[in-house]
Amino acid sequence: MNDFLNLSLAEARTRLAARDISSTELTKAYLDRIEATASLNAYITITHEQAMLGAAQSDARLAKGEGGILEGIGIAVKDLFCTNGVQTTAASRILDGFIPMYESTVTTNLWNAGAILLGKTNLDEFAMGSSNTTSYYGAVESPWRSTDAPDKKLVPGGSSGGSAAAVAARSAIAAIGTDTGGSIRQPASFSGIVGMKPTYGRCSRWGIIAFASSLDQAGPMTRTVEDASILLQVMASYDPKDSTSAQAAMPNLLSDLNKSIKGMIIGVPIEYQIDSLPEETSKIWKQGVNWLKSEGADIVYISMPHTKYALATYYIIAPAEASSNLARYDGVRYGLRINEKNITDMYTHTRTEGFGEEVKRRILLGTYVLSSGYYDAYYLKAQKMRNLLYQDFNQAFEKVDTILTPTTPSDAFEIGDNKDDPLKMYLQDVFTVPASLVGLPSISVPVGLSKRGLPIGLQVIGRMFDENSVVRIGRTLERAAQFKAMTAMVEDTTKDE
Ligand code: GLN
Repeated sequence: MNDFLNLSLAEARTRLAARDISSTELTKAYLDRIEATASLNAYITITHEQAMLGAAQSDARLAKGEGGILEGIGIAVKDLFCTNGVQTTAASRILDGFIPMYESTVTTNLWNAGAILLGKTNLDEFAMGSSNTTSYYGAVESPWRSTDAPDKKLVPGGSSGGSAAAVAARSAIAAIGTDTGGSIRQPASFSGIVGMKPTYGRCSRWGIIAFASSLDQAGPMTRTVEDASILLQVMASYDPKDSTSAQAAMPNLLSDLNKSIKGMIIGVPIEYQIDSLPEETSKIWKQGVNWLKSEGADIVYISMPHTKYALATYYIIAPAEASSNLARYDGVRYGLRINEKNITDMYTHTRTEGFGEEVKRRILLGTYVLSSGYYDAYYLKAQKMRNLLYQDFNQAFEKVDTILTPTTPSDAFEIGDNKDDPLKMYLQDVFTVPASLVGLPSISVPVGLSKRGLPIGLQVIGRMFDENSVVRIGRTLERAAQFKAMTAMVEDTTKDE
């Protein structure tokens, strides 16, 4: 039992192919674990029967020596990916009970490679948030507890908090999430796992419930960099159904993964050393720099002067796009409908009751910055700033191969913290939004623990379509950091069993 829960995805593949373990055993172990860790509220829907059926089919294929790259491996899927015949909610009341009649391209790619759906994971409503506390289905609890207040429940980060908590608590070997401004990387950092956002356009957005279409990207959430590479390789594909899908073929991410980084040039942007950066985050960042230096990389301190405007830019562009994308939820086509005498009242009541506070805040913000009279002052200005951020990165990448920064300013906070202070909550995203606005690949790798015994991650940002360098530097950090810390919840279970 322990054995199953502690396998990496790469190890599970090898053992399944060797017929040393069966998919039925593996899948059952994870379904049991989902039940045992139900208090975390990481899953909205558990596809028990479908998973066991899929496992039996995988076992039959494996017995014949057949099967895809992920044959027989159960994956947890953020409940923002449409899954054919399986409820898909975006953690919103307005989509409660919505059962898609089609499958997203990314999940189709997973199933074509032999993977099995374990269940749909919880998230912040419509992926808006950094705490996974705005879900209509309740907050997700992190499996981690701090050493100074072990009775306090912490957030797993967000918005892909259910996926992060599931991987950290070992109720999924791997999960997928989406990242618009940090929603894979920030929860990965808070939960002590690896999370990667590929280049914009690598993974098809088709069938992913839209938040901000010029920023949304799918990506893997795993325990190791190797697992993230394996999963991303399967997720990514050119898709004519997504007009922004990239035609460029994904290089083999595993081929260079363990190669030496000697001679590679790593940029350290001085503007990321913000005043409010806690000393311990700064220290871990320096440690990361030293690890890469001792592996033979050259370190260059770079300036990216527009960094300080990235957060404000993001919080204009993302809500603007969201306000447009969310216009389709009108009580006519999907989910909730509050019947009223006339259509205007029906729209109003459906949307008032169907959307939560944060989603409404974003719709208001987005509508405001797009309205005539304010469009030039906010939206247009933000687009211009986005262009300057491109230039910052372009100039940096003339000198360096990848950029190293912290993923988040601090470690995880308590459930309920920052709730009444949206600005403080938005500050969570200060280090992740620049790469999102520019569409660059980036990874968060767990490298250490804070004074309170909570995980801290470092972020590696790469050039457009250079996922290879990102995973290679990520793997080097992982090897150097030897991050083995486990949540008490995982340790306890390991002992009990
Ligand atoms: N935390 C950011 C936000 O609330 C990012 C969310 C995301 O990446 N989906 O918008």
